[in-house]
Amino acid sequence: CRSIVASNVAKNYGDILALGPVNVKIDEGEFVSVLGPSGCGKSTLMLIIAGLLEPTVGFVEVNGKLLESPMTDVGVVFQDHLLLEFRTAIQNVLLQQEVRGLDRKVSVQRAKELFKTLGLTGAEERYPRQLSGGMQQRVSIARALVHDPAVLLMDEPFGALDIISRTQMRHDLERLWMESRKSVVFITHSIEEAIGLSDRIIVMSNSPGRIVEEIRIDLPRPRP
Ligand code: ADP
Ligand code: ADP
Repeated sequence: CRSIVASNVAKNYGDILALGPVNVKIDEGEFVSVLGPSGCGKSTLMLIIAGLLEPTVGFVEVNGKLLESPMTDVGVVFQDHLLLEFRTAIQNVLLQQEVRGLDRKVSVQRAKELFKTLGLTGAEERYPRQLSGGMQQRVSIARALVHDPAVLLMDEPFGALDIISRTQMRHDLERLWMESRKSVVFITHSIEEAIGLSDRIIVMSNSPGRIVEEIRIDLPRPRP
């Protein structure tokens, strides 16, 4: 069974103790939300889990193996969509294929499917500035998923969206997750989103960043 375990991870930025130590376990296919005030270390924790940031102490294991470099089987979405302005939507998504050296045909096929699932049909050849904020964020989700990673990490993905796009995105994310059953770590400020989407909520608090509570949610939804 695929699992991610962060054991006693802590992070200092110079003198600032940004996080921990904390223990986190993400099971295969689990949707975990991380809720907490600004600056409590949510992003730091996510970057450590992805192997993109080295913890000051502690370690991360994926399937029981020590994670020593960035996780490859992962997709990441940030609050800022970070799309390249001079590339069309589909070119932005296919950046993954280029960087990872994946098969072009398979990636194009998968990108097209994702555009359909994410309500982006017709947006393929548009440039980011020609798309609404919600559409831009959908493109960045497609980019995070085009290589079919087992794990999806999202840091306030809807943070910059208006309430209507936000609600829509939440439903679409839920549908997407139901179809794919990836392991998800979802950072949010929204209690409603966390409750509506998650199997489990990790609640964090400030100074220093720590986990104060874990809440398991039993949502009435179909299981495979
Ligand atoms: P959150 O995602 O919950 O807002 P962060 O993980 O971004 O929290 O930050 C936790 C703490 O670490 C904050 O006090 C933040 O200012 C600090 N911090 C984050 N990244 C850096 C960095 N690269 N250098 C210095 N301090 C940082
Ligand atoms: P969030 O609250 O969504 O984590 P922040 O605005 O806290 O976003 O941080 C945005 C980026 O800036 C992150 O990559 C974080 O690592 C970095 N950062 C945050 N605080 C500091 C800091 N005090 N010094 C340097 N970098 C920081």
